[in-house]
Amino acid sequence: MTQEIDIDIVVDHSEQMAEAVQVMVERVVENQASLRAYGNTLSGVAVQLGQDRTLDGLVQAVNTLTAETARASERNRTLEQQLSVSSARITKLRQDLVDAKQESTTDGLTGLCNRRAFDARLRRAMVRAKADQEPMSLVLLDIDHFKRFNDTYGHRTGDLVLRLVARIIADNVKGRDTAARYGGEEFAVILTGAELQAGAIVAGQMRALLDGKRLITKGVKQNYGSVTISAGVAQFRPGDSVASLIERADVALYEAKSLGRNQVCTENLNAAERT
Ligand code: GH3
Ligand code: MG
Ligand code: MG
Repeated sequence: MTQEIDIDIVVDHSEQMAEAVQVMVERVVENQASLRAYGNTLSGVAVQLGQDRTLDGLVQAVNTLTAETARASERNRTLEQQLSVSSARITKLRQDLVDAKQESTTDGLTGLCNRRAFDARLRRAMVRAKADQEPMSLVLLDIDHFKRFNDTYGHRTGDLVLRLVARIIADNVKGRDTAARYGGEEFAVILTGAELQAGAIVAGQMRALLDGKRLITKGVKQNYGSVTISAGVAQFRPGDSVASLIERADVALYEAKSLGRNQVCTENLNAAERT
């Protein structure tokens, strides 16, 4: 659905861009033709001056030069104006496209990558990890008992919590890493260059930072207690598909939930060795 809208925007914009460029080309071509005509007029005057050295002839030549030069410079000014209008239009279209691209890859509530951008980045990170033989880990995080929180304090307060969790996650990833909102109250982090244990440490930091916060609204001083997250970590293996890597992180996340939540579990390496 979103993709269809994006494609519409891109198609519409590229048509408009092509049209604006076409207008510029036509104006430049027109101007070239009129400059050529002006050049011809000047040569004509030069020839005339060589042949007719009378005062009348000189006056006529000066009149012609003045009139033609004024017309040429007027045409030039018009061209400049037209080109600057077209150029402003193209700049605006370009900005619209940048905004559309940004919107299509960003989650509106949290500002993190959305699921679509995450899927693309994960695929890319896996290809790179395989090619460079570099480790890469995937962390899935899920807010604990979030339904209960929403039911108790309302969806709007729940949204604030989602933004807080997103900020903690974003603050703890760096450089080439990707933090995404994977689903409603689920997040995903791609950690390039990170082995399983490094991934677990990063996830643990995020968990501890959230656990250490007491949620209070400034105005009414309502205390919402604390919110916790559970996380599952899996490390990329050369034979992995996107689905198999996500599945292992998901199993680890499920284990963290079943062990009591507010904790990080890594994938089961023994099981990995058996496969
Ligand atoms: P668990 O610890 O097992 O993960 O329990 P849970 O309640 O977090 O899990 P469950 O899947 O039962 O509920 C997820 C809840 O997340 C349900 C829904 O109200 C909430 N949620 C999902 N998306 C949003 C959102 O955009 N805003 C808010 N406020 N809540 C959301
Ligand atoms: Mg969930
Ligand atoms: Mg949950």
